Amino acid sequence: MSQSQSQGKLYVVGIGPGSQDLLTLKAIEVIKSSDYVIGHTTYVNRIKHLVRGEIIESGMGREVERVKLAVKLARDNVVSLISGGDPSVYGMLPLVVEYIIESGEKVKFEVVPGVTALSSASPLLGSPISGDHAVISLSDLLIPWEVIEKRLRHALQADFVIAIYNPSSRKRAGNLVKALQIVLQEKGDVFIGIVKNATREGEEIRILKATDVMANPELVDMNTLLIIPSSETLVRNGVMYTPRGYSRKYRLVEDGKESDRDDDKRRVTT
Ligand code: SAH
Repeated sequence: MSQSQSQGKLYVVGIGPGSQDLLTLKAIEVIKSSDYVIGHTTYVNRIKHLVRGEIIESGMGREVERVKLAVKLARDNVVSLISGGDPSVYGMLPLVVEYIIESGEKVKFEVVPGVTALSSASPLLGSPISGDHAVISLSDLLIPWEVIEKRLRHALQADFVIAIYNPSSRKRAGNLVKALQIVLQEKGDVFIGIVKNATREGEEIRILKATDVMANPELVDMNTLLIIPSSETLVRNGVMYTPRGYSRKYRLVEDGKESDRDDDKRRVTT
């Protein structure tokens, strides 16, 4: 198997948010052609059926080990290192680049971008992400909490729509409450978009006031993405959206044809 490869190569492969339909053609092609497919068990399970080479699974917190092994194997083999969503977004890519630069390894590598959680969750709510937005992770495993808190506060003050990754886990459930308190201080009791398991089994879509999220923290887990609105974000008929400004420039609806705003075509739990 590996002997047939004249040269090795490392692919860092984003496999999207969960749905098979959201795997890119390129991801499917490189996974199929890899001698080794390495990744966290949860992600590897999603693409197992495509693998023709050997699977190497590893658990949470073993990222450094996984990257070292992937780089080592990629000297002589084609290797896919699997990342959920997109590898650049809180994924495996930064560590791969850092390790290759620091170690001086001469491995060839290529990134296969994937659909990140944000791009799959936002349209399930409506269109809350429409223009400038900030992306913040609440995980303080690698970053001090003070830094996260400062970034969140500044992003709120700058009136970005904010996508929150890693909002909660069993180990750090308190971070969500602390973050919501900052939202309440800076914005008041705004509606928050909550998408759990976007595009995969167990998908749940909600729009709830910040205080209701605080009162029901079990609605948010480590498979959830939150969207905090800007001052321009609207919630109507159960749809959360941030107009991009077209209506300031163009007339979108003819007089008398405006849709009935009380008509509740609810797609989300509010
Ligand atoms: N690289 C991934 C993100 C990894 S960080 C990406 O690009 O999507 C893990 C966090 O991503 C989770 O805690 C959650 O906040 C978010 N996430 C990943 N997949 C998700 C999904 N299908 N639905 C909702 N949130 C998701």
